Amino acid sequence: MPQSLESLLHRRGVSIEAVAEIVYMLQHPYNADLTLEDCVESVRAILAKREVQYVLYTGIALDELAEQGKLPQPLQSIMEADESLYGVDETMALGITNVYGMIGLTSFGYLDKVKPGIIKKLNEKGKHIHVFLDDLVSGLAAAASARIAHKDPKAHDYGDYQ
Ligand code: MG
Repeated sequence: MPQSLESLLHRRGVSIEAVAEIVYMLQHPYNADLTLEDCVESVRAILAKREVQYVLYTGIALDELAEQGKLPQPLQSIMEADESLYGVDETMALGITNVYGMIGLTSFGYLDKVKPGIIKKLNEKGKHIHVFLDDLVSGLAAAASARIAHKDPKAHDYGDYQ
């Protein structure tokens, strides 16, 4: 992974460790031997995929341009309001999640609903706009979690779907 993506995530308030903590929460019930370091490694493996990098670059650029008020209308207003019918952010996140199939999709839906840890922080209204990043981080955590489950399918409830 280019170092710049990790520092870009940092600039947007997201550390690899914070994403790994969500992966750990998702997978630890199925795998007692799992460590946070395993989860960090899995997040980095997902970030090494070029299609994942492209999704993150695109979504983060749109968030930053919206913060700077530089998007054309009506997109600028939609992003400022985080309109609930605007589903492009979720659709783009699926581009990350789909890398590991059905388990990733199931976990993404769960994270979108429960919004644990860093996802909740990103979702809070503040001076920053994270219309895309909250979903992309959910997609990233879901894919990293599914990657661990794929390595040990017997340890996972969704094993039948693989
Ligand atoms: Mg969103």
